[in-house]
Amino acid sequence: MNDQLLFYQSKLESDGCGKPGRVAMLVQDDTITAVGPDDLKRLGRKLLKQLGLPALALYEPSLSFYNSVIDKVSAGDIIVPTDTETRTFLHDIPFIRQSGIDNNLVTRLTELLGQRKGVMIENCCIITTGTVTLEQAYINASSLFHAVFVKHLLDLHQSGFSSEREQKEFDRFRHHWLKPLAPPDPPLRTGPLTTSEEIYREMIRAGRATVETRLVDSSFGNISCKSGDIIYISQTGASLDALTGCIDPIPLNNSTTCGITASSELLAHRLIYEQIGDGVILHGHPKFSIIMSMICDHPDCRGTECWNNCPKRRNCRGIPIVSGEIGAGGLAEKVSPVIKETGTVIVYGHGVFTSGRDFNRAFNALLLTEITCREEYFRHILQTVD
Ligand SMILES: [Zn+2]
Ligand SMILES: [Zn+2]
Repeated sequence: MNDQLLFYQSKLESDGCGKPGRVAMLVQDDTITAVGPDDLKRLGRKLLKQLGLPALALYEPSLSFYNSVIDKVSAGDIIVPTDTETRTFLHDIPFIRQSGIDNNLVTRLTELLGQRKGVMIENCCIITTGTVTLEQAYINASSLFHAVFVKHLLDLHQSGFSSEREQKEFDRFRHHWLKPLAPPDPPLRTGPLTTSEEIYREMIRAGRATVETRLVDSSFGNISCKSGDIIYISQTGASLDALTGCIDPIPLNNSTTCGITASSELLAHRLIYEQIGDGVILHGHPKFSIIMSMICDHPDCRGTECWNNCPKRRNCRGIPIVSGEIGAGGLAEKVSPVIKETGTVIVYGHGVFTSGRDFNRAFNALLLTEITCREEYFRHILQTVD
């Protein structure tokens, strides 16, 4: 069990979510086992005993964006994320202000964590639960970081910096936290993939590359390859950096039963292949692509639901953005006709689909999309501030 705890602890640090040395992971069966700094472990133990749950993650985020997000909530103690993926997954995120930390902290946290997947404590940490597994606590920790990241950068785009501290943190983020976006070395293979061994090998490599480049968080995103009448696709909830044993071959003409563990976005993949023939599809949730998809300057769009009702055909420097209806049907219908033309589609508030003959091409398209959106975001922000 200790190995698993250490595994997820170091994953949260290498993802860029947790500050190194400030991540605690705990599991409970007959007793509680924990790794991490003493103060977080101590709080975690008290909570686990109260909650009676199997797992908990507590971490100090590597960026103080969560404090800014809390600061900007004038009344109440809940943050409502705006990106569609988080909205579906987390609904909203409760928080406790610094001034609210008192002797009843454990009781209040227990209440909140009983109802939600996670909670934030201002200037302290983020805490998430795993109701069945430790992995869930990790996934929730990573999702919460993602939600706060997207929300803060959207807030800054809308209202600028509210303090010198916020601006300093943003500069540190921009120049030190963000990693340069580069393709894997050695590069992913070019040319059609024909044998199933080649397909599995390249899917595993491409999956790992999307995680290492931070183009997808935790277990979200999916990847597939069609060769002849078989679609090879990552299983729902599979970690894209550990796909060995988690890829399902699905015959094209089969009914739904065999596809039961396959990704819930399978329908979108299927429709895309109807348009493009043999090839590959990558789907990830790169943060700046999501952020730029949600920044719409159409005058009629303010205050309306741009995500599904924008009067404009949108793009980010030529890369098409489609609305982000949730549910496989809506998503598939929006994505497939557009990706046929361009090989890349950004889905509003959700993520990016790319397709191509091989993973080299699809990966580079995903990377280029995020690079473009990152540049565009900073161009916008610097204009707003100057
Ligand atoms: Zn997705
Ligand atoms: Zn719009």
